[in-house]
Order: sequence, then structure tokens, then C-alpha cells
Amino acid sequence: MKLEDILSQFLSLTDDAIAIARRPEGENISRYEWVNDPFCRMFGMNMEDAIGSRSLDIHHPDYFDDFSQSVAESLEMGEHRMVCDTLCVRKSGETFWASVSMFMVPDPTRETVCFGIVLRDISELKDREQAAELALIERERLFAKLEAAQGRLMGAINTIPDPFVMFDKKLRLTTWNSAYAESISSQPDVLREGMTSREVLEIGLKENRFPEAVGREDAWLDDMTKGLKDEATGEPKMMDIGNRHYKVIRNKTPRGDRLVFRTDITEIVRQQRELERYAEQLEKANSDISHQATHDELTGLGNRRYLASKLEDFIAWRERNGLEIATLHIDLDRFKQINDTMGHAAGDFVLECVSERLQAVMRRTDMIARVGGDEFITLMRCEAGSNDPERLAKRLVDELSRPLMFEGRQCRFGASVGIARTPLVNPEDLLTSSDIALYKAKETGRSRVVTFDESDLKTLKFNKRLTDDVLRALENSEFIPYFQPQVRASTFEIVGFEALARWQHPERGLLQPAAFLSAASEVRVDGEIDKMIFEKSMDCFNEFFDGRTMFPSLSFNASLQRIMDPRLIDDASRLKTYPGQVSLELLETIFLEEESDEFLMRIDTLRDYGLNFEVDDFGSGRASIVALKRIAPEQLKIDRRLVSPITDSNQARKLVQSIIEIGHALEIGVTAEGVETAEHANILRDLGCDRLQGYHFARPMCFEDVAELMRDGQPFAQSA
Ligand code: C2E
Ligand code: CA
Ligand code: CA
Repeated sequence: MKLEDILSQFLSLTDDAIAIARRPEGENISRYEWVNDPFCRMFGMNMEDAIGSRSLDIHHPDYFDDFSQSVAESLEMGEHRMVCDTLCVRKSGETFWASVSMFMVPDPTRETVCFGIVLRDISELKDREQAAELALIERERLFAKLEAAQGRLMGAINTIPDPFVMFDKKLRLTTWNSAYAESISSQPDVLREGMTSREVLEIGLKENRFPEAVGREDAWLDDMTKGLKDEATGEPKMMDIGNRHYKVIRNKTPRGDRLVFRTDITEIVRQQRELERYAEQLEKANSDISHQATHDELTGLGNRRYLASKLEDFIAWRERNGLEIATLHIDLDRFKQINDTMGHAAGDFVLECVSERLQAVMRRTDMIARVGGDEFITLMRCEAGSNDPERLAKRLVDELSRPLMFEGRQCRFGASVGIARTPLVNPEDLLTSSDIALYKAKETGRSRVVTFDESDLKTLKFNKRLTDDVLRALENSEFIPYFQPQVRASTFEIVGFEALARWQHPERGLLQPAAFLSAASEVRVDGEIDKMIFEKSMDCFNEFFDGRTMFPSLSFNASLQRIMDPRLIDDASRLKTYPGQVSLELLETIFLEEESDEFLMRIDTLRDYGLNFEVDDFGSGRASIVALKRIAPEQLKIDRRLVSPITDSNQARKLVQSIIEIGHALEIGVTAEGVETAEHANILRDLGCDRLQGYHFARPMCFEDVAELMRDGQPFAQSA
């Protein structure tokens, strides 16, 4: 066997791909002259293809130039051995990395160069290398990121004005911000990573940062360490350090690190305490105010408002428990006399004693309110058929009839009681019903007790129908003005009209105020009726007197509700188009007894809008010169009950005369009402009265009749 063949067989046994190639000197592409089987396998060729193939064919074109260059350089430097990695291509086109070891043997003739080549597939190795390289790059990138994040985090933590600190699970200091360092020491640099929490706190103790620990330092340190270890729950805890208040949150990360976050809430706590104090004061003020608003100052009993809210409670209680409710409406007899004859102090004393006696007789669960000067209402619970309310009422009457001594003088008075009870009466109607019963009690004599019964219920139902009807009539605008002329006493010329309300009822015909006014005021729409009368009258007068030369005065009856109605100001603007004198008549009782600032200011405002005021039914109540001077009305209207008897009674004439004199002394005009005969008219004229109004001249009439009357010129005027 030839040595060559032996060598060839031997070389075929290795796993490495081995080839021998040759190229002409000066060229860079060589041809394979001998290859082993692993070489063929590596490149996917058979022996025939492989022998004679070019080096160019097994190298990747992108790497071939580099490879040739390295070979050329090695040769130039006289090196005969070269090792490098390069990318190769199999016949299938698949690429792989190979490590190439090459012996370069120049031909002695120097015409050719011979190469002995050993190739090893290192793709896998190369992949791993690349992966490792990539991993390294990635790690560096992450590190940089982490560092940046940590920097940012520390930056952020340091900007937190409140102390923040973090210990690892062995309670060694890892992270803290400057606020924390400053809270521990005046030299914040003394804090070092790795110090134990105890060491850190000891620094704070030395600098007297924790006054509350003084004298019990060890116990305090134990507490704090234990707290950090066992109480890191994230629950905020309040802590006082020195004279400041902190909210401390200790928390644990999943890795067991301990975080402590301390917020200085001294200011918040101070504000909160102040707020609490303020709220307390407010609450007290509120309850004082609501007590004042719901209670009577003199007796300390609840007032009407309190009663209303209590009644609601009682009604709700009745629905729950099925028991019944009764109201006792108590009115003192002869109280007015005590007040008038013995003075207000005596009156007050009586009221206080009455309140005490009421409280002594009533049960603790009953409710007592003072609802008017000498009126009281009690609410009580009772069994359906029991006579408890009546028994109690009788005892009250007995108790309240015992006389009292005031400043050595005896006060005698008494009481009448009206009772109303469910279920005969609806709970909402209890107060009205006991009021009706009281009215009946007083009618039948003093010191009586009357219980509201079936027949009263009928009246009540009638009233209910009436109030409903009034409300409906308002919607349908069924109220219309009638007008009664007023004449000048000296000449009987028409100088004015009083507007009087009428109800043009669709079924019952034309109704007088007596048929509807009290029902209207019960449902608080008397002001609405007044408004309707005012507007309709002004419309008529504006239209009729437009372009004329004579403008009679026009007066309206006004309820208190109407006076306080804000819309009255708007209505007053209509006065401009009607140049006659327009006035509001107020009952003497309202005018002279209503003394609130609000009312007086209201009168002034309305005057500014051009309205005049008249006192109606003057002499029927308790006229006071002082009140008259204060309000200074433009006109007084003498009550017709005083006017009527002047034809027969000298005394009555004298009374009317003195009223006229008082009026004139105060520069107030005087009108006499109820002038029914010529004799009345003549007497009143002679007494110096300014105006007359009454059936003798005309009854109240609809506006068509007013128009008719005015077309006649002056029908009542006496030819001189
Ligand atoms: P008042 O203001 O005193 O009105 C006078 C009442 O006397 C009118 O009764 C009138 O018809 C009647 N009267 C007039 N001349 C005579 C007479 O010579 N003899 C007699 N016996 N009576 C005479 P009227 O219209 O039934 O009104 C009754 C009361 O109703 C009025 O008394 C007034 O207080 C009230 N009223 C009438 N209209 C209104 C209104 O629009 N609003 C308000 N709030 N009350 C009104
Ligand atoms: Ca009147
Ligand atoms: Ca009157």
C-alpha cells in the first residue's frame, strides 16, 4: 500500500473536515485537490463535486475577502500557520461558522501555494458566544437603567419633606432621605448604610430628638425596635415626638424590608382641633338658636313650631303602635284682666305658674306647648276608649282655678279646655279640632271641658270643602272687586272708592267676604285674594280714568300676608299709570299691634313706592296714640259700630268727635264708615269728619256701576 493511501485512509478517520488545496501564486482562489468524508458531509457534497471545487464556493461571499486578506498577510509575514473563524456555506445554501486551521506550504517552485486545511463547525459555540455577549450588553443596559431609576428614586425620596427611611429585614439601614437624617441628627452625614435601627435611634437620643424617651431610653428603644419589627402593617399610627404630632406609617416589603414614613401633621391636628372646637361652638349655637326658635322664653315650654314637629312624631308613633293621640287646647279665662289691671309682670308671673302647674299634672311623656299669649296645647297618648284625656283636662281646670298671690295681691283666673282625639279626628286635624272644641267650651261658659264630636266633624268637613273651593276659585280667578264710593263730608262729592272683595261663585252666586275670608286665611291665601283684587281694580281704574281730569282715591283692604308679600312692590309700580291716591287699609289690630322692625320697615318701603296707609275699623280695638304717631297713617276709618249709634246717643257722638279731634291733631284725615242715613251724614259733617262712606250714599257695586255713576257727574253732591 502506498504511503499516500494509508495517509488518506487515516485522515478519513477523524471527525474534522480536512482538505488539501492549491492555488497559483498571486491568485486568491484555490481548488481542493483532496478532501476527506467529514469535509464532504460538512458541505453536503459528494467526493466528485468536492474534488476540484473552489475555495470561493465554500466561503460566504461577505467573509471571503476578509479571509483571503488574512491569508495574504500571513504569507507575507512568512507565517505558515493561520487560525481564524469564518462563515461558510453548504451546498444547500445554509451557512455556518467554522474554525479554520490552515498550514500554508509554498511550493518550492514558488509557482503555487499549497494549503492543508482543518475545518471545525463552531456554529453552536458561536451562538452561545453571541448570546453571552448579548446578555452582557443587556445586563449593562439594565444596570444603567436601574442606576438611573435608583437615582431618580433617591432624588424623589429626598424631595419628600417628611422623613422616610428603609431598613432591611435585619433592621439595618439601607435607604433614607435628608428629612429623616435631619430628624435624627444635626449632622446628617453620621448616618451610614448598614447601621442598625437601634444605633440610628441612639444617635437621635443623644441629640435629644426624642424628648418622650428621656428617662426610659432603653424601654423606648425596645418599643421602637419591636414596633419596626412586628408592627410594620401599613396602618397609620399617631405619634407625638416632642411637641409635634406625626402620622407614622411602618410597612414591610415582600422581601422583608421595613419602611418608615413619618408625616408631620402638627398643623393639620391644630386645624382639626380648632375645627372641632368651632363645630362644637356652632352646634351649641345652633341648638341654642333652635331652642330659642322652638321654645317660649318666658315659660321654657315649646312653641307652636315645636308643637308641629312633636305632632309629627306623635303621628308616626301612633302608626307604629296603634294607640291613639289626644290634644288638649287650654285657654286661660280672665287672663287679659290680670294683665290689664295688675300689669305685665303679674301676667308673666301667672303664665309661669300655669306652666308649672301644667307640667305637674301632665305625664312626662306628654308634650306641652305655649301657642299664644294665654293659650297652651298638650299632646298625649291614650288608649282608644279611655277617658284619660277628659280626666286630665278636668284636673287641669281644677288646678288652674286655684288663685295665685302676686306681690300681696290675689290673681284669680281659670281655664277652658277643648279636646280632640283620634281616631274620630284625623291626626292632621287634631289642632284645628281641639281649637273648635275650645271655642265651644268658652261659648258655653267658663272653666269648661268640651270634646270635639261628630257634629263638629261635619262643620270641619264643611270648612275643608270650603277651603278647597277657595283654592280652586283662586286658580279660576273667581274673586272680583266691588267698589263703595266715599264722599267728601262737606259737599258729598265722590272723592274715593274702597275696593271690597266678592266671590263670583259658579254655583252659589255672588258671595260676601264673610263667606270666604276666614277659610282663605286658614289656608294662608288671603294675600293671594288681596293681590287679585288689587290687580283687577287697578286695571279697571287705569283704563276708565285714562284721559280724564278727575281721579278718585282708591283704597284696598290688606291682610298682613299681603303687606309682607314681596310681589306687592311690583304691583305698586302700576300706581304710576293711575294718578289717584292709592292706599292700603290695615285693620287697627294689625296696624297698631304689629311692632316688629320688619313690619315697620316694610311700611316705610311701601310708602316710598307711593302707597298711603289707612287704619281700618279704628276704635274697635285698643288704639294707642303712641302707635298712631309712630306709624302716621294718612287716614283713620272710624269703625261703623261707633258711627251707627251717634244718631241716638250723645256719648257715642262725643266718642266719634274725640276720635276726629285726635286724628286732626295728628294731621290724619278721618273717614266715617257705616253712614246709613242722611242724619248720620249731617252729624258727621258737623263734627268735622272728612269723608263719609255707607249705604246712605251707595252700597258696594261692580265696576260697570262705578263707570255709570261717574258718568252722572256728582250724583250725591248737594247744591250749595
Ligand atoms: P271693612 O273693611 O270694614 O269693609 C266695610 C264693610 O262694611 C263692607 O263689608 C261693606 O259692604 C260694609 N258696609 C259699607 N257701608 C255699610 C253701611 O252703611 N252699613 C253696614 N252695616 N255695612 C256697610 P264687606 O264688603 O262684607 O266686607 C267685610 C269685611 O271684609 C271688610 O270690612 C274687610 O275687613 C274685609 N274685606 C273686604 N274685602 C277685602 C279684601 O279685598 N281683602 C281683605 N283682606 N279683606 C277684605
Ligand atoms: Ca276696609
Ligand atoms: Ca272698616
